[in-house]
Amino acid sequence: MADDFKTNFADPQLQKELAARLQYYRDMGIYDLYRRKSAGGAGGDGLSAVSTEECRDSAVLPVLNTTIDVEAELRAIREDIGDCTRCGLHKGRKNIVFGVGNPHAELMFVGEGPGADEDAKGEPFVGRAGQLLNKMIEAMGVQRADVYIANVVKCRPPDNRTPERDEMETCSPFLYRQIAAIQPKVIVALGATATKALLNVNEPMSALRGRWHAFRGTKLIATYHPAYLLRDPRQKGEAWKDLQMAMKELALEPPPKNIA
Ligand code: SF4
Repeated sequence: MADDFKTNFADPQLQKELAARLQYYRDMGIYDLYRRKSAGGAGGDGLSAVSTEECRDSAVLPVLNTTIDVEAELRAIREDIGDCTRCGLHKGRKNIVFGVGNPHAELMFVGEGPGADEDAKGEPFVGRAGQLLNKMIEAMGVQRADVYIANVVKCRPPDNRTPERDEMETCSPFLYRQIAAIQPKVIVALGATATKALLNVNEPMSALRGRWHAFRGTKLIATYHPAYLLRDPRQKGEAWKDLQMAMKELALEPPPKNIA
């Protein structure tokens, strides 16, 4: 089935976009796609099935429009979330904290979940930790509005506890869709929970920091959560090293002073 379907795409950017779109469909639970045969081709105008796995393996997907309207995608994701009750975290929330920032951002920050301030405002990283994150972002030579910020879970866990595994598994497909839509060049994972959720690993932060990881084709660097840095400011210098790796990757200008 896949052989007559196959078309080779040499453009790495196109392959990356196709891979992201296929992952998006798999996250949605869609495993079979349908293409309309060309008018002149054998078999008339019927539809033929091809799995997303076949598409991924052959790096082809001519049926799909690869020009992603990011704003429309993000609106669609938010509409799909709706007034979500998919996991137990909905019971205590005031607001769903979807994400904020530039839909075309090259740099994306991912935390674990909203706290009280974020829950009240419906925006990620607006409390004390958010203020420190803003300083970290500005120290990188960009503004908060230039980047995109989201969390693994979109509702506040009670008493700011760490999200449970099943809660993250239920909510994270929405984050994955956001990442697939935005297609940042670099993801900065804030803290161990977000890093482990994104990379599906169980290593300590000491083993995860200071080196590049791959999240579905996007470069990912892990660093300390700003809330942790507020509790232990001595680690700001280490976090700055992580951010400098992201800056180098994005060719951001070194700022006049760092966060330490
Ligand atoms: S955390 Fe995510 S999956 Fe759970 S209720 Fe909120 S939006 Fe839905």
